[in-house]
Amino acid sequence: MLRIDVVTIFPELFEPFRAVGVLGGAIERGLLSLAAHDLRRWTRDRHRTVDDIPYGGGPGMVMKPEPLVEAAEELAGPKHPLRVARVLLLAPQGARFHQAKAAALARESHLVLLCGRYEGVDQRASELAADEELSIGDYVVSGGEAPAMVVIEAVSRLLPGVLGNPESSAAESFQQGALEAPHYTRPAEFRGCAVPEVLRSGDHGRIRAWRATQSKVRTQRRRPDLQAAPCQTGEQ
Ligand code: SAM
Repeated sequence: MLRIDVVTIFPELFEPFRAVGVLGGAIERGLLSLAAHDLRRWTRDRHRTVDDIPYGGGPGMVMKPEPLVEAAEELAGPKHPLRVARVLLLAPQGARFHQAKAAALARESHLVLLCGRYEGVDQRASELAADEELSIGDYVVSGGEAPAMVVIEAVSRLLPGVLGNPESSAAESFQQGALEAPHYTRPAEFRGCAVPEVLRSGDHGRIRAWRATQSKVRTQRRRPDLQAAPCQTGEQ
């Protein structure tokens, strides 16, 4: 079972998130545990302060290092190469998150996700608490919560037993360095657009071949970079 702890100033965001869909089912079946912890639990002052003004001036506030480091240490133990838990700080400047990384994280037993807010976190929190910084893409959102949810969604569907049919994730986009073939469902015709005849033929050999070709052509057209550097599942 994979244990995930999230440290955030908005733990309530994770209540509806953990209750629905594939993730909700995985939690219900005991394949995954997900707890969201209020960062303010690790503050010591009357106002439960998690941020302060930046040294050197500039706009906005910076998240203080003490609560983040103490939260990570309580949940994961002190930072050490042999620490079992992996502590990830969500940060736009971190390493880009991708499917191979999701597969690697799905093999861990315990993840602790630290969510920043404001202008970001004091650099010492990253150095003293996190094993790595992870970015979900080259854009900035207002907090680490949505990025943490992206990581949790991508990792959880790769855990054994989470998807009813393990082939679902094996054939999925990025898993084999390619995009998946297009999907269709009923009706067979909609506003003059028909479902390709081959998919209705019942000939599984032809369907497999059609999907393989579609996947190849789509990948060449839309994401030629994937074929140039195929995703190595298991790569760190
Ligand atoms: N001032 C920072 C910068 O320019 O790099 C951005 C801070 S952002 C407004 C606040 C928090 O949102 C970050 O500390 C991080 O936790 C999260 N965040 C924003 N964009 C992200 C991304 N692309 N990937 C992961 N986390 C992100």
